[in-house]
Amino acid sequence: MVLPTTEIKSQFSRHNQPLAGVRCQHGKLLRCENPDCWNEYRRSQVEPLPDTTEEMPFHCSADWHLWRLCPRGYAAQIYNHARRVAYKSKMFHASAANVANYFGWSERTVTRNFNLLVGYGFFEIATVSRGLTTNFRVFSHDEWKKSHPGKCPTKVFAARELTVHDPELEKRGYELGERLYNASGSRIKFKNWQTVNCLRTGLPMDTIVELFEEWYGGQESLNADRKGWRRHAPKKFYEYLTMKAASC
Ligand SMILES: [Zn+2]
Ligand SMILES: [Zn+2]
Repeated sequence: MVLPTTEIKSQFSRHNQPLAGVRCQHGKLLRCENPDCWNEYRRSQVEPLPDTTEEMPFHCSADWHLWRLCPRGYAAQIYNHARRVAYKSKMFHASAANVANYFGWSERTVTRNFNLLVGYGFFEIATVSRGLTTNFRVFSHDEWKKSHPGKCPTKVFAARELTVHDPELEKRGYELGERLYNASGSRIKFKNWQTVNCLRTGLPMDTIVELFEEWYGGQESLNADRKGWRRHAPKKFYEYLTMKAASC
């Protein structure tokens, strides 16, 4: 029988050490050889992660979670170290003492964070050894995400990346690109995401073309002796355009 979490908790000291008399489903003390009993126990010792609807401009990563779970960065550092060491084997064979030595931390700090990593499922104890080292299975963030749905913030896409999702705007972008190309005397090619960004300023296409003609007029002579300047022209024009759009 598995003990309910609260009951287990009350029987452990504040350092997460099993106290005498606690039994796992095998009827043994939690010094059980079965790694599942340990993994289950570690998971019962952490606060459950809340679901999140947060948005951010980056992809989620293990770091995002681990810096929140351990704001001093120990867990993230241990995790990244373990990932490097494990590499393709995905196994991290380590003792708290060795890791503590490596980073110059206390063994207690490392043990506490091993427990946290197992508790939140980034590590899994693969074999329980009687010695001081433990065999951890290390999960990538992608693997972790699959078994922990709803816990990762969503990446919000920048306009440039959104173009693929908006075929109508994309189409108008191509049209604008052609008009700007003609307006530049076939000298400046805008990429589709660049013209889409121009359209996203909210200015009508005709106005954008007019502003381009106005801007471009001086550029050729201004940059006459600057080789390759046209490559950056779309970006420069976009800056000019957003400035104009803001003052409209
Ligand atoms: Zn057991
Ligand atoms: Zn995540």
